[in-house]
Amino acid sequence: MASYYNDATVIFLNGSFVKAAEAKMDFYSQSLHYGYSVFEGIRSYKTEKGDTKIFKPAEHYERLKNSARAMNLPYAWNTDELIAATYEVLKRNNIRDAYIRPVVYAPANMSFVVNTESFIVIEAWEMAPFLGDKLLRVMTSSFQRPNPKGFKIEAKAAGHYVNSILASQDAKAKGFDEALLTDMNDNIAEGPGANMFFEKDGKLVTPPPGNILPGITRATVFEICKKLGIAVEERLFKADELKNADAAFYCGTAAEVVGWESLDNVKFKKNWNETVSKIVQAAYANLIIEKEFEPPIQAGARRKEIHA
Ligand code: PMP
Repeated sequence: MASYYNDATVIFLNGSFVKAAEAKMDFYSQSLHYGYSVFEGIRSYKTEKGDTKIFKPAEHYERLKNSARAMNLPYAWNTDELIAATYEVLKRNNIRDAYIRPVVYAPANMSFVVNTESFIVIEAWEMAPFLGDKLLRVMTSSFQRPNPKGFKIEAKAAGHYVNSILASQDAKAKGFDEALLTDMNDNIAEGPGANMFFEKDGKLVTPPPGNILPGITRATVFEICKKLGIAVEERLFKADELKNADAAFYCGTAAEVVGWESLDNVKFKKNWNETVSKIVQAAYANLIIEKEFEPPIQAGARRKEIHA
């Protein structure tokens, strides 16, 4: 298993900066027993200019607040204060390229009643930017995403991730790199920890909100596409249509933008290097380090076509 901290590592715990190795949490917490907590996955990068920037921190902390509200967890924190605390965690640990994990968790409570307080921890560890140059072999999972009538699927709640773990472990045990989950009607939904897009004839298609976590990277892909004049459509589709696509990719804070080689061993039609998806990947890689991105001719050509 990976090592996330050492004796010197500092975390933010309920308003104080404390040593990770000395921090305590209640073993009687409702979060531990029932998977009842909410969290975020955020990244910081060393920018092109050399400073450390957290990517879209307000979006992540607002989602944390919304996830807590959706789960009836008290949420007493302010986004600006949490962003400042996160920069302080990075500074105290002397890390720049980091993965940042805030968790809002419940007090000791074995019943199901609403709590009067909750707690927050912010952990961070080093994570180098991911180049996404290896294409993924993806498997359609027999595990479906949680039914939105049984869960608040738009919230990033810890308990939902039991589903992600089962699907991902199953795909890996079967020799694939990652799982792809459907909704209860066999429409493609998302990966265990990432949203997906496919490309057909230079346009991108992605599942609409409803059965997915509406990702911040997904929203960033929309922004990139708008800027580059790449058409994106949100609609439901099934695995058969996806297998006929030119390309596909996962996107998420941890995954960034990562292309797929195949789905259920059916290879995608286009060479990844010739896809608009690859242009989106390059644009994202530049955006996170605040580097200007000059799209290749292909995207420019598409832009003229769309606005003509
Ligand atoms: N779906 C799931 C199930 C996830 O866990 C994640 C990662 N948070 C995503 C999508 C992508 O979300 P984001 O781009 O906000 O990281």
